[in-house]
Amino acid sequence: MIENNIIYINRLTKIYRGNDKPAVDDVSLNIKEGEVFGLLGPNGAGKSTLINILCGLLSPTSGQVLIHKYILGKNNYKIKELIGVVPQDIALYPSLTAAENLLILGKIYGLKNSQLKDRIHELLAMFGLEHNKNRRISYFSGGMKRRMNLIAGIIHNPKILFLDEPTVGIDVQSKKVILDNLFEINKTGTTIIYTSHLMEEVQKICTRIAFIDEGKIISEGDPTELIKSDPSFKNLEDVYLQLTGKKLRD
Ligand code: ADP
Repeated sequence: MIENNIIYINRLTKIYRGNDKPAVDDVSLNIKEGEVFGLLGPNGAGKSTLINILCGLLSPTSGQVLIHKYILGKNNYKIKELIGVVPQDIALYPSLTAAENLLILGKIYGLKNSQLKDRIHELLAMFGLEHNKNRRISYFSGGMKRRMNLIAGIIHNPKILFLDEPTVGIDVQSKKVILDNLFEINKTGTTIIYTSHLMEEVQKICTRIAFIDEGKIISEGDPTELIKSDPSFKNLEDVYLQLTGKKLRD
């Protein structure tokens, strides 16, 4: 394992019970500290399965993962402190207010009261939600819920942040706030790993990407270098279509 790899994945496989085909198939991958790493692939490629294993939400069938030198499956308590997770679904209590949700979460992470109140204030302001602090989540728009979902994943200032399609189905303004803040969070030293279908977005924010299809990594590298690798590629979408084909995936 090279020193600056914050995530080391060695021959990881996941076969769901009752399935013959692996959802993640013998994947080896390293992610360096400070990267914004994009995981791309068609529906059913294995992106969520891989992310869920890395977050400790799902056990692999075989293989090893080290997160900041801690062994996944053995040092999960240590790993939980280091990572933040922003799932695809909204993981908030709808009948509680924004502040109440964040207070509960912060306490779960062991943040002290005064420190936690400052952090909540800072994050709500950062994501343009300071005036909605005392409103119930159930009254929030889709974009506001997504921004809150992200705040919930970073309340404890994680060293590594996992995001599963953080900007899917939201308005342009919310998307911009999310992406701008991901940049800022990355600048402070947080490594970001995220899945997306949105090639333009990935091209804009990722320092490195991997394409996954049928559970296997089929290509990885710097997005600009990948585009340059063939004169017929104009953008990342061209690379993606060349790698994964034009057949529809449902
Ligand atoms: P992606 O996130 O790239 O869309 P997933 O990781 O969700 O892909 O799925 C990868 C494969 O694993 C798909 O074939 C999917 O049907 C299957 N799969 C996902 N979750 C489960 C599950 N809980 N049980 C059985 N099969 C699953």
